[in-house]
Amino acid sequence: MPDDQPPRDDGFQLVTRPGESGRRPYGIPLAVLAELTHRCPLQCPYCSNPLELEAASKELATEEWLRVIGELAGIGVLQIHFSGGEPTVRKDLVALVARATEVGLYSNLITSAVMLPRDRLAALADAGLNHVQISFQGAEPLVADRVGGFRNGHAKKLEVARWTRDLDLPLTVNAVMHRQNLHQLPDIIDMAVALDADRLEVAHVQYYGWALKNRQALMPTLAQLDETSRLVAAEQQRLKGVLVIDHVIPDYYAERPKQCMGGWGRQFFNISPAGKVLPCHAAETITGLSFDSVRDHSLDWIWAHSAAFNRYRGTDWMPEPCRSCAHKEEDFGGCRCQAFALTGDAGNTDPACALSPMHARIFALAETEAGSAQNAFLYRTFSGGTPE
Ligand code: SF4
Ligand code: SF4
Repeated sequence: MPDDQPPRDDGFQLVTRPGESGRRPYGIPLAVLAELTHRCPLQCPYCSNPLELEAASKELATEEWLRVIGELAGIGVLQIHFSGGEPTVRKDLVALVARATEVGLYSNLITSAVMLPRDRLAALADAGLNHVQISFQGAEPLVADRVGGFRNGHAKKLEVARWTRDLDLPLTVNAVMHRQNLHQLPDIIDMAVALDADRLEVAHVQYYGWALKNRQALMPTLAQLDETSRLVAAEQQRLKGVLVIDHVIPDYYAERPKQCMGGWGRQFFNISPAGKVLPCHAAETITGLSFDSVRDHSLDWIWAHSAAFNRYRGTDWMPEPCRSCAHKEEDFGGCRCQAFALTGDAGNTDPACALSPMHARIFALAETEAGSAQNAFLYRTFSGGTPE
C-alpha cells in the first residue's frame, strides 16, 4: 500500500544497511512477533495477550499474512516469531512458514505444543522452520496442568519436545516462573537437559494484563527469588556447553529496569491477530495510544510514521530522573507498559528503577503480595476471565 509522507526531521538517527540506496528512518526493525491468533486451548493466568482478546472473525486472512511476511523482508526484518495465542490453531501455519522461508526470514515457532501432531511438526520442518520454543508450566502434570488450565497438557508437551529434537530442530524450553511453581525449578532444569534442549528460559512473570490481575497469586517472595538466582547461577556454570540458561527476574525486585524491547520502536515490533502493529506485545494495555493496521498502511509507513511508535522513541520524551541519567541510552527508561500499569502514566520512569520516586512503594507492594494467602487463579478466557 503506498503511503507517501515526507520523511520526518526530528533528530532521530537514520540508519541504512550496506548497499541500500535510500535512508530508512529510525533504525531497522530486526524481529517481529507475529501473533497469528488469540485462540488458545490453555488459559494461563499470566498470559501476555490483552484482556480483550481479538476474535477469530477479525484475524488476518492467509493472503494478508502472506503479503505482510513479504513486506517484512522488504523493510529489513531478519526474524519472525510465530506466536499467539496458539499459532498451531491456524490451518495455514505451514504456508506462512514456507512464505517466511521463501523471503529469507529466520522463523521461530512459539507454541504451547498441545495441538501439534508429529506429521504437522514434520511439515513445518519441511517448510523451513528454523526453531521451536515450547512453554512449560511446571515440571510435572499436577502443577503444570493446573497452571495452564488444560488437562494432560504437560504430557503432550514432553512428547512434542522429543519429536522436535528427533526432527533435528533446535529447541528452547520456556518456563514461566512464579510463586506457585518456583519450587520445581531444579526439576525443570533436569527436564530441559533430558529433552536435549539448547536453551532454557527461566522467565519470571512480568505483571501486565492477565498477570497483573493475578499478581497476588503469582508474586514470588524475595527469599524465593534470591534462592532462584543462586540456583540459576550455579546451574549455568555446571551446564556450560550442555544447556544455555537465561534468567529474567521480576521487575518489582530489580534495581535497574530491563531494556524493554531493545527500546520502544527501535528493534522489534508486534503484529496482532487482526493486524494492529504494536511497539511491544503489551502496548495495548496503555490507554490513549492508537495503533495502525497492516490493513490500512504498509509496514514501512507504520514503522516510520505511526504515532504510537514515535510517542516514546529515542530519549526526548523522557522526564527526570531519566532525562539527565547516564543510563538513558542503555535502558531507554525501562518499560512503558509497566510505567503505565504502576503509575498511570506511560511517560514516567519505570518504577523498576531504584531512581524512580515510586520504586520503594513497588518493592513494598511486591513483598506484601508475595505474602498473600490468595492462590486461586483468574484464568485467561475470551469471556474476560474465569475464576479457578
Ligand atoms: S500464555 Fe498460555 S494462554 Fe497465553 S497464549 Fe501462551 S499458552 Fe496460551
Ligand atoms: S533513571 Fe531512567 S535512564 Fe536512569 S537507570 Fe533509571 S530508568 Fe534507566
